[in-house]
Amino acid sequence: MGFKNIAGNSRVKRILRTALQRQRVPNSLLFCGPDGVGKTAMAMTLAKALNCKAGKDDACEECDSCKAIEAGRFPDVLGMAPEKDVIKIEQMRFIKQMAYLKPFSGTRRVFIVEQAEKMNEESANSLLKVLEEPPSFTHIILVTSNPFLVLPTIRSRCQVLSFSTIGREEIERILAERGYPGEQAKALSIIAGGNLELAMGRDWEEIRKYRQSAWELFLSLLGGKGSSDFLSAYVFQQRAAAKDEFEKKMEMFASFCRDIILIKENGESRYLLNPDLEEALRGAEGQWSLERVQDGLARTDSVLAGLSGNRNLNVNLQAAVYYSNFREWNHV
Ligand SMILES: [Zn+2]
Repeated sequence: MGFKNIAGNSRVKRILRTALQRQRVPNSLLFCGPDGVGKTAMAMTLAKALNCKAGKDDACEECDSCKAIEAGRFPDVLGMAPEKDVIKIEQMRFIKQMAYLKPFSGTRRVFIVEQAEKMNEESANSLLKVLEEPPSFTHIILVTSNPFLVLPTIRSRCQVLSFSTIGREEIERILAERGYPGEQAKALSIIAGGNLELAMGRDWEEIRKYRQSAWELFLSLLGGKGSSDFLSAYVFQQRAAAKDEFEKKMEMFASFCRDIILIKENGESRYLLNPDLEEALRGAEGQWSLERVQDGLARTDSVLAGLSGNRNLNVNLQAAVYYSNFREWNHV
């Protein structure tokens, strides 16, 4: 995959391509950002572009180097991941030893360390020197979705590039380009929460069932006909409700509100986010006023804004507040 085929994160791509053109790619890099936004793919593409025989600021995908790197049989590009949840000192020692050897077949030696936050202190310390003064022909790319768990001594020695989630519309466009039928591309893009890999890995039947259950939960909550399902799923949980799961439900709820508003405003069906639920949406929208649905959307969006980036939020509490807002709503 060349840079031009990688979705999203155009800022990061621009920085890397400019660095390639100027032949000034930093030797120690830290790629950080949420899961599934293409950090490792970007690191692989950079490794290819650095060794590509044809391209200057991108991987051509055709030359021997690009093909060998893609197939994982290029001796100068090595990927590393935690073993049993820890990046061991032996793995880092290996990098340290190899880093100073001239590349065997390429022009640049590239190490890609996934889940770099799983280096323990010993591993991290053993890597410090090479990160600080790497040979000009060696690049070490650390990849993490949790940069705050990476030791500051490591972070400060790397050029940090921050990745962001991919927009819903872009995910929908990419899925459509890759042959997903329009309806599926749209539904998957909503459920993906900015994670393209997740969107592509999902089973469509499973998604349909999930959306159906989200819709029923939404109806029970907004219809005020006993919302025990919502309460038992998210509020009265002994253990903390899963944030990701709650967030996904909130994304779905927001998409239902948007569709209902669209229908109430006589918008065109092709703009529906949940086209396969059109009949159900049209059948249900009459029970709420436009203002209420707009209010519901604002509340849902505000929960989503609070959830994003806040790992320590008490989901049960958020869900309880959300729920009580709707109780109020239904009893006016
Ligand atoms: Zn190439």
